[in-house]
Amino acid sequence: MMQCPVCGGKAVGKIGAGHYFCRDCCIEYRIDREGIQVFEIDEDGMLVRLDPAQIRL
Ligand SMILES: [Zn+2]
Repeated sequence: MMQCPVCGGKAVGKIGAGHYFCRDCCIEYRIDREGIQVFEIDEDGMLVRLDPAQIRL
């Protein structure tokens, strides 16, 4: 899937196996057998997992 699960945009780059970054909303997401995990990058550069209920897939 090359479309951002948060904004639906296509400014998505692959940064690893099953691991992507959206330049539009500055989130990272990983896709595995359990589904999609979305991470926000906070001001300290830490990844913060977003609650799936807040994401429209
Ligand atoms: Zn996005």
